[in-house]
Amino acid sequence: MIIDLHVHSRCSDGDFTVKEIIREAKARGIGLLSITDHDSISCQGEAVALAEKSGIHYVTGVELKIIFSHPEYRCGRPVSLDLLGYRFDVEDEKLRGRLLEIKRYREERAAKILEKINRELEKEGIEKLTKEDFEEIRASVGGVIGRPHIADHLVRKGIVKNRQEAFDRYLVKCNVPNYPIYPEEASKLIRNAGGITVLAHPNDPRGISLAELTKSLREQTRIIEESFLEYIDGVECWHPRHDARTTSHYVRFARRHGLIMTGGSDCHQKPVIMGTVKVPSYVAEQFI
Ligand SMILES: [Zn+2]
Repeated sequence: MIIDLHVHSRCSDGDFTVKEIIREAKARGIGLLSITDHDSISCQGEAVALAEKSGIHYVTGVELKIIFSHPEYRCGRPVSLDLLGYRFDVEDEKLRGRLLEIKRYREERAAKILEKINRELEKEGIEKLTKEDFEEIRASVGGVIGRPHIADHLVRKGIVKNRQEAFDRYLVKCNVPNYPIYPEEASKLIRNAGGITVLAHPNDPRGISLAELTKSLREQTRIIEESFLEYIDGVECWHPRHDARTTSHYVRFARRHGLIMTGGSDCHQKPVIMGTVKVPSYVAEQFI
């Protein structure tokens, strides 16, 4: 069975609508799927219904951005990690309420980031962004607004050539901290909604992973054992940016601790790589 438990839709920063994802999943023969948007579950109801119609096993999903620190690394300064939530009740009031708060905060944050970018543009003699620009950015977002949406708008306006340049020139410098959710709270939210939590791509070299604290796989799993194990039910072993060594290290780790093992493409449809990460079929047995 082809399995993909990590896909983004237009409800966060993916390019496809839920409908397009389900159609593509069907065409690619994906038998077990989860759409895991950043801090948003607004597409889950539609995904459940459409997947059922297409005969695809569907697991409800979300990817929460959390804050984590360890006293021995980066002088205790926090890093961001991604915590995947699966199989929760999409109608859960507490989860929905908290995600709504995050969404509102993210909009305020985006407005503050735009103010900072405007100061930079002014210094460079470039025309400033207006209210209409903000509205246009908001309209381009299906779920929760994030820096990639602002970056894409700067590309559309011709201020920068691509997303990377947007981050290099403006978005890193003009950042405003994200809504802080700690592992305790995130895991409680998901588990109280009947779901399970999975640490996403623990060794993603591009960041939002424990690789920001240490490149050593052994140290990464020691950190989890010391400060994270109680918050997770599983670990994402298969990911496009995990090499074979990382995958086998985390599979061994998961087996040692009786954790669920998951995997997926983390596809944002840029390009479309859904179903291309080889996830063994025994992963499905944990969900079906
Ligand atoms: Zn993701």
